Formats: sequence, structure tokens, C-alpha cells
Amino acid sequence: MKTYDYNELAVPGVRELKPYTPGKPIAELEREYGVRDSIKLASNENPLGASPRALEAIRGELDDLWLYPDANGYFLKQTLAERHGVDPACVTLGNGSNDVLVFLAQVFLAPGLEAVFSQYCFAVYPIATQMVGATAKVAPALPRDHVMPLGHDLRGLYERVGPDTRLVFVANPNNPTGTWLDGHRLKDFVGSLPPHVICVVDEAYTEYAESDRLGDASTWLHEFPNLVVTRTFSKAYGLAGLRVGYALSNPGVADLLNRVRPAFNVNSLALTAANAALGDHDFIERSRALNASGMRQLGTGLEALGARVIPSAANFILAEFDQAGADLDEKLLRAGVIVRPVGNYGLDNYLRITIGTSAQNARVLAALKTILAS
Ligand SMILES: *Cc1c(COP(=O)(O)O)cnc(C)c1O
Repeated sequence: MKTYDYNELAVPGVRELKPYTPGKPIAELEREYGVRDSIKLASNENPLGASPRALEAIRGELDDLWLYPDANGYFLKQTLAERHGVDPACVTLGNGSNDVLVFLAQVFLAPGLEAVFSQYCFAVYPIATQMVGATAKVAPALPRDHVMPLGHDLRGLYERVGPDTRLVFVANPNNPTGTWLDGHRLKDFVGSLPPHVICVVDEAYTEYAESDRLGDASTWLHEFPNLVVTRTFSKAYGLAGLRVGYALSNPGVADLLNRVRPAFNVNSLALTAANAALGDHDFIERSRALNASGMRQLGTGLEALGARVIPSAANFILAEFDQAGADLDEKLLRAGVIVRPVGNYGLDNYLRITIGTSAQNARVLAALKTILAS
């Protein structure tokens, strides 16, 4: 039999590609480590679970699972358009917002073209860029002693934009750092970009953030034809398992994104759940309140343990320790607590911890206390 070097057959962008590292699932931890009653604070999921309205809505959908979903997501797009005061033609639906980030790369990037993003940005931006053979231009993050340590440096991003740049990715707030950009400054930045550059503002955590500080980029769409805003139902809406997110943009951009979008990329349960979740204001309010109190609890608790906490406007905290995050992670796993080591981001002495319920926050703090004392 012939031996194949499959890697040689792969397109150049894929050859060196390292897949996204997800948080460890609870079932996997319990299988591998033989622990029980474990908790997961690793993937920024909502500790309150899914929006109850979404759960209620999908029950009525089960009998129709034999039918293909609505390929155009008519009702969800309609609701999103109303919510954001835009035309439904401005909406692109994704199997999670990860999906639309990949569409953006497929549509606007190719070998010889460039994407600009920050050091310590969301891991999907470099993956999507590399996948299509484009070049990443990475702006160093703000220094550790800055008021917004490890955050995006808008000037540094701007300086990396050149004639071959097609996309700039900015997350506000950012993952894995939790840091944020002032809305006015970000808006000026978007306005300063030349017309051959599309600016993607990823607002995955926007429901948790205070909009008077961070702004709401979806309200700038009328002003900037080169702005794309991405949102997700995975975080505050508690629907990570269903995979649904979206992009808002000029209809011209949405038209291009929809050309590469697989027809049935968002399943029927996801369409129905997302549509219902958008009306679940009470759930979002409760989620925000729990997150705000948990942020204080976890933040003060971590500082009391000697960790240094990076300011966060999201539903997680990035904390710096005096030892390798990977070692702490390993010990936490044995105690049944899953958090996120971030060595793959170049943040070796850090852990990213999702804000949980008050009991979950207390549990991770207690486990860390024991580990750090031993
Ligand atoms: C979680 C996250 C997403 C959303 O992922 P989904 O694919 O919608 O689940 C997008 N951007 C950032 C910065 C995130 O942290």
C-alpha cells in the first residue's frame, strides 16, 4: 500500500494549523479522573443554564425535527433586525458566531492578504486567518502595568493596517483577557480605517458589559459601511450547546457572507430557541446581576489568595499566579474544578475562570486556597 503524507496534500494554511483548544467537558473529566460532582468554569457558559423561554419554545419544535430548518432563518432574522433597528438583509446567521468569523475569513482573506488583531485576542481570529492562507499582523497588547493590562492597543492595531489588510478583528470585551475598549475610542478607530478594510467588532459578551462604557457597535452600523458586528447566543443567553450566533453588517457584506454560508448551518431548535431567548429580558437581567456579584466575589477572593486580577467586563476573570497555570489547572481538575489554562495564548502563569454561581465561585476559591497552601 502506498504511504500517504496527507499533510503534504493539505492546502498550505491548514498544514501548520493547530486546532482550537476547548474547555474540558465535565463528562470527560469525570471519566478520566474518576471524580464526581465536578464543576466547569472553563468556557464562559451561563451558570444559570439556558434561557427558560428558549427551553419552553423548543419543546414545541420537537415534532418537526424531521423537516429541514428554514435555510434563511426568516423569523430569527426578523426579530434580530427589529432588536437592532436594521433591515433583515443586514443579518448573517451562524452556527455560533465562530461560524460567521470563518465566513468573514473565507470572503475577505486569501494568500497575500492580511488580517490585523491583537496579541491575546480570541483564538478563532488567528485560526480563521491561517486556514485561508492569509497573513496575521499582530499588534502587541497593552503592557502589564497599563490601566487596561493586556488589552487591545488601538494605535498598535491601526499601525498594522496596510494596503493588503482586509479584516481587523476587535473583541469588546476581549476573551481571554476580559479587558475592554472605551466605546467612543473604538468608534473613532472604526471610522479611521480605510475603505478597503472591514472592521469586525466581536461583542460576544456585550450583555454582561456596561454599554455606557463599551458602547454598542450595532448602533454604529448606519455610519460605517465597513463595520461588521458579531454576537452570540452562547454566553449570556445560555445556548452554547445549540450553536447560534450572527453578524450584523451592511447588506452588501451580508450578501457575500451568505454566499459561503452552508444553507442549513443553523438548526431548527437553535433558530427557535434564539428567537425566544431574545425576548427573555428577565433572564438576561438575572444573569447580569449574578455575574456582577460573582465578579466581586471571585475577584476579591482571588486577590486574597495573592493572585493578580485583570480587569474584566465579561463573565470571566483572567488571574495571574506565581506559578504555571497548567500546574494549577491539573490540581484543580483533581479537585473536580475545570477552569481554563491559557498557555496556548502565551499566558503561562494565568488561569481564566468563568464566573459561576456563588457556590461555584466559593468552591474554586476553596480549591485554589488548598492548592496554593500545599
Ligand atoms: C465565546 C466567544 C465567541 C462565540 O462563540 P460561539 O461560536 O458563538 O459559541 C465569539 N467570540 C468570542 C470573543 C468569544 O469568547
